[in-house]
Amino acid sequence: MNKVIIITGGSSGLGLATAQLLHRQGNKVIITGRDFEKLQQAASLIGEGCAYFALDMVNETEIAPFVAGIIQKYGQIDALVNNAGINSKKPFLDVTNEDFENIMKVNTTSVFTLTREVVRYMENQESRGTVVNISSMAAQYGIPYVIAYTASKTAIEGMTRALAVELGPKGIRVNAVAPGFIKTPMSAKALDSDPDRKNKVLSRTPMGILGEPIDIANAISFLISDAAKFINGVILKVDGGNSIGF
Ligand code: NAD
Repeated sequence: MNKVIIITGGSSGLGLATAQLLHRQGNKVIITGRDFEKLQQAASLIGEGCAYFALDMVNETEIAPFVAGIIQKYGQIDALVNNAGINSKKPFLDVTNEDFENIMKVNTTSVFTLTREVVRYMENQESRGTVVNISSMAAQYGIPYVIAYTASKTAIEGMTRALAVELGPKGIRVNAVAPGFIKTPMSAKALDSDPDRKNKVLSRTPMGILGEPIDIANAISFLISDAAKFINGVILKVDGGNSIGF
């Protein structure tokens, strides 16, 4: 595709699988994350030319300079994949304001800030650009013990629709992928410690299995590609049918 693509949280899980696929497809891939060494390792797995930047998404003042640096180096940004995210499983009454705000900051506010800073450039590019956000099953139906995560991902779906209509006239498409339950370090933490929850996940997934990171990577790659040039504002569920499961 030969596009310049930023993937936040690209050093593990879904972000890493996405970065690997997009790199194989001939794009210039830029990954971000918090841990410089982890990013270095991931970049060597992804392959030659993969750029990496340590950028903690909670440090909002670092976001605009990061984007300006990318533009200076590459001249344009064709796609932004807002993948970085955190989760925390706790009963509602144990969730502090600090817990709640921390999750909202990483999963939602930083997506707003980074997208705004990227779109400033995209709207003046000839090729425009596209944004892919990452939602969750927590935004499709109620899941207990993840109040902040649920609020953050539901906000992502609303922002996806609002941006799709505001930026569509400028030629910028905004979509989201809502992964079902996919095998990554994040989901292992939530499911391996709780066999009942894991059984429930599998029993309501018509395909009866967890997904793999490449399943999400393929969906993101499609939404970025020109094959999706008339797709704007969708929440694409990649979940083996989990969200409509009985
Ligand atoms: P993961 O923990 O493997 O990856 C998350 C990435 O986000 C990591 O690279 C981490 O370094 C980065 N990150 C976290 N906080 C950050 C911060 N403050 N600044 C910068 N980077 C930060 O988890 P994953 O499963 O690959 O999750 C990726 C995305 O997919 C998340 O948005 C998650 O909510 C979403 N998701 C995952 C699943 C699943 O089943 N794995 C399901 C639904 C949604």
